[in-house]
Amino acid sequence: MKRYFGPSGKLSRTFPDYEVREPQNEMAKAVFHAIENEQHLIVEAGTGVGKTLAYLIPIFESEKSALISTATKVLQHQLLEKDIPVVKEVTGMNPEVAILKGRSNYLCLLRKEQFALNPLFKSKRDIPVWSEVKAWLSYTETGDFSELEEVPAYHPILTGINADRNYCTGSKCPFYTECHFYRARKKAQKAQIVLVNHHLLFADLSVKETNYGAILPLHPVLVVDEAHKLEDIASSQFGGTFTARMVSILLGQLPAELKLRHSGIFREILDDPFFSGETELKQRGVFSDEMTDKFLSMKPLFENLRKDLAGLEPEAFEMRDNLIQRITSFSSFLDKLQDTDFVKYFESNRAGRQFRSVPIDISTKIEQALTGNFESIIMTSATLSVRTKLDFFRNRVGLKEAEGKLLASTFDFKKNTILYVPEGLPEVNCEEFRPSAVAEIVRILEASEGRAFLLCTSHRNVSYFSSELRKRTKLNVLKQGESSAPGLIGRFAMEKNSVLVGSFSFWEGVDVKGEALSCVIIDRLPFPQPEEPVFKARAERMDNGFFGYSIPLAVLQYKQGLGRLIRSKEDKGIFVVLDGRLLSKRYGKIFLDSFYPVQLTRSIDKVKKFLAQF
Ligand code: SF4
Repeated sequence: MKRYFGPSGKLSRTFPDYEVREPQNEMAKAVFHAIENEQHLIVEAGTGVGKTLAYLIPIFESEKSALISTATKVLQHQLLEKDIPVVKEVTGMNPEVAILKGRSNYLCLLRKEQFALNPLFKSKRDIPVWSEVKAWLSYTETGDFSELEEVPAYHPILTGINADRNYCTGSKCPFYTECHFYRARKKAQKAQIVLVNHHLLFADLSVKETNYGAILPLHPVLVVDEAHKLEDIASSQFGGTFTARMVSILLGQLPAELKLRHSGIFREILDDPFFSGETELKQRGVFSDEMTDKFLSMKPLFENLRKDLAGLEPEAFEMRDNLIQRITSFSSFLDKLQDTDFVKYFESNRAGRQFRSVPIDISTKIEQALTGNFESIIMTSATLSVRTKLDFFRNRVGLKEAEGKLLASTFDFKKNTILYVPEGLPEVNCEEFRPSAVAEIVRILEASEGRAFLLCTSHRNVSYFSSELRKRTKLNVLKQGESSAPGLIGRFAMEKNSVLVGSFSFWEGVDVKGEALSCVIIDRLPFPQPEEPVFKARAERMDNGFFGYSIPLAVLQYKQGLGRLIRSKEDKGIFVVLDGRLLSKRYGKIFLDSFYPVQLTRSIDKVKKFLAQF
C-alpha cells in the first residue's frame, strides 16, 4: 500500500496537501490482507488516521465487489461525492458505484399523483413546502429526498408521498418502470461497489433470513464504517414493531368484501385505548401478561385474514402479496411475544403507542447474518475499544475470531487539549447539582467566549441549561430542537460566541473544525438508563451487568462526545466533565484510560490560561 500512502506515493503526488500517516498505511495493509484472505477485521482508527481512504483503496485494488455500510446518510453521500472520486483518480480505476437508501427516502410516483390531485394540508405552513417539492419534481432524476435540503425527510408532505412499502404494488404499479426506488435498486444490483446504511443493511439481512427475497445483491466484501452503531441498529431491524395504525392502514386496503368480514373484529380490539396510547401507561415499559394476552387474541384473526387473502387471484387484487407479507410480519411479531429470548416493550409518543420486540442476544444474530452472507467483513470506527481492548465490541457483534487493530489518533492531544474536572461540584444525582453546574459552566464559557458544545444526557438538562445560560450570559445559545440539527451546526460555525446545547444526537457525527469549537462540556457520564427495557434485559443476562455492559457502553459514548472537539491537527481546546465520579469512583479510571492521553486539571485558572493562548 506504500505506493499510495507512502511519502512519494500516489496520494502525495496527486494532492499536494496530502499528509503521510503511517497508521493509515497500516490500516490499508490490514484491510487488503483481510479482503485477499477472506478474513474478518475490526479496526479502531483514531481521529486523523484517514480510515475512509484506508479501506476504499484496498477495495479498489482487490477488484472484488463490496457493500459499504455507514450509520448515516451524510456519510453515504460524503463517500459518493468526495472520497470515491479521489480514489478513482489515484487508482485510475472506474468501477461502477451506486448509492441505495431505505424506501422512505424516495419519491413514490403513484402516491405523488394521488396527492397532487387533491392536496390536503395539515397546516398552512405546508403550502410553501409543497410548492418547493413541486419545483423539485420538475428536475429530479433520482427522486431522492436528500436533494431537498430545506425539507426534512420526516416532513408530513414527504411521508405522504414516499415509497413506503405499505402502499406499493411493485411490478403491478403503472409507474413501476420509472419508479425511483426500484431504479436505484436495479442500479445497485449491477454496481461493483454499493453504498448503503446500517438500517438498509440489516433490513436486507432480515429479509434474507425469512427467505422472502432480498433487497441487496450478494457481495463478497462488507465494510461497516461507524461500526459502533451496529448493535443498536441491528437490534431494531431484527426485532419487530407493531402499531394500531399499521393494522388500520392494512384493513383500509382490503377489498370491500374482506373489509366487511374482518374489519369489525379487528376494530373491537384496536379501538381499545391501550393500542392508541390514550391509556394512563408510563411512556415506556415492558409488556405485562395482560398486554401479551390482548395481542395474542389477534393471532387467529390474522391467520383467517391471511387465508382469505391467499384465496384471491393476484390479478383480481394487486395488493394481495403485499398485504400477505405484512400479515406475516405481524404474525411473526406475535410469535415473538412468547419467546423468552426477546424483550417486549412499548413506548408512547405524539404519534401514538409503538410496541416492539427485540432479541436479547443480538450478537449471535449479527454474526450469523453477516458471516453467512459475506466472505470478508471489515468493521471500523473511531470508538470501539475500552481500555485499549476490542473485546467488548467483538463480543457484541459476535465476530469473536476477527483480527483486531488499534490505530491511535495522529493528533497531539497532550499538547493541544486539557481535561478539566471541576472541584467541589455536588454529586450529579443531588438536587443541588444543576444550579452549581450552571455557575461552573458560566465561568468556563466566559473564559472560552462561548465556542462550546454543552452535551447533555437528558432533554430535561438541555432545557434547564439552555434557559439558565440565556438568563445569565449574553452568549448566543443554540438549543437542540429550536431548528434542524444541520441548521444549528451551520449557525454555530458561523455566529460568534455561540454555545450549542444538545442531547445525544449531538454527541456524534457532528464536525466543526477550527476555533469555532474550543470547548466540549459533558454534564454527566453517559450511563444507559437502568430502566431502559432492552438495556435492562441484556444487563440482567450478564454476571455483572454494570461492569460488563453499562460501563463499556458509557465509555464508548463518552469517547464519542468528547471526540467532537479535535477534528484536525490544528484544533485546540478543553474537555470539561462536570461529573466528579470520573475521578472519585474506581470505574472512572476506565473512562480515563479509554480516551486519548490528555493533561488533567481541576483548576479553572489553568483552563483560563490555556484558553488565553489561542
Ligand atoms: S412501484 Fe411502488 S414505490 Fe414505485 S411508484 Fe409504484 S407504488 Fe410507488
